[in-house]
Amino acid sequence: MNILVTGGAGYIGSHTVLELASRNHRVVVLDNLSKGHRGAVRGIELVHGDTSDTRLLKEIFKKYNIEAVVHFAASSLVGESVRQPAGYYHNNVVKGLALLDAMVDSGVRRLVFSSTAAVYGEPVETPISEAHPAAPTNPYGATKLALEGAMRWYDQAYGLRFASLRYFNAAGADPAEEIGEDHDPETHLIPLVLKSAAGLTPYLEVFGTDYPTPDGTCVRDYIHVNDLAAAHALALDALAAGLPSSVYNLGNGNGYSVLEVIRTAEEVVGKPINIKYGTRRPGDPAVLVAGSGKIMKELGWQPRFADLKTIIETAWRWHSSHPAGFDK
Ligand code: UDP
Repeated sequence: MNILVTGGAGYIGSHTVLELASRNHRVVVLDNLSKGHRGAVRGIELVHGDTSDTRLLKEIFKKYNIEAVVHFAASSLVGESVRQPAGYYHNNVVKGLALLDAMVDSGVRRLVFSSTAAVYGEPVETPISEAHPAAPTNPYGATKLALEGAMRWYDQAYGLRFASLRYFNAAGADPAEEIGEDHDPETHLIPLVLKSAAGLTPYLEVFGTDYPTPDGTCVRDYIHVNDLAAAHALALDALAAGLPSSVYNLGNGNGYSVLEVIRTAEEVVGKPINIKYGTRRPGDPAVLVAGSGKIMKELGWQPRFADLKTIIETAWRWHSSHPAGFDK
């Protein structure tokens, strides 16, 4: 298939591009490189541009005879979204709509969308299935849900079929060490734990120890980025085979506390990690664990790296071999 990947130079995007290329798809990346890295896209056509550029999109659709789009390009930090909702509505909704419009105008009618567990908000039951009410508690989740809403109506009116993948906590790196996680600023737990282990930061701050969980720290469901990438490939195949528009959760169904992540990382790196106990980070639910039975049943998805230690090992290999990330 000829596939356009927006945001393909980012963390999950670049792993998905590798996966699609390995399955012999012809992939073109569109990335404005505001967060992504040129070095994360190797041997694949990279167009430096923005999804708001309708003319450019239409040119790409025509030139490469694009049959499907995987849409990652977006802003994705919860805390930042609370401080700057305008930027999130602009990047995630306004630019997202520009992409949908260009697709409809050009007759490209298959879309895999990078969504998030943040659409659910504070869980009312665990594990969270796709039937869980969607009540986001921050603009990041709200903007992802808003585009999902538009996609539903675009399907009904214009026949744009989509698979929306709601990720829990993406982690790890390509086991071949070619690419990995490189955010600036880094806000995610596992890379921050490993940066502390590598001596790049003095300590890891644990955000809150008074949650109603077994050890008082937040519980999350970590899913390997290559398992996420494989899910995008399966969704594209299913859409090509006639799958109706669908929403799928993606996690492993196992919850690990912040302290369990730190302990496992200590085993991986073979030394103690400095931690400091801090206060809660606003907006963090106590427990987020996915029910991913739907994608397993309907698309045959199975995680290959379900074990937390394996996930952290792949991340550690990347961070220890690329302490300064991609481009620096
Ligand atoms: N966390 C932490 N210290 C950090 C970063 C994160 O204790 O420096 C906690 C955070 O409060 C959450 C978990 O680790 O409970 C995972 O956070 P992350 O930002 O990686 O992902 P999120 O759950 O926000 O998508």
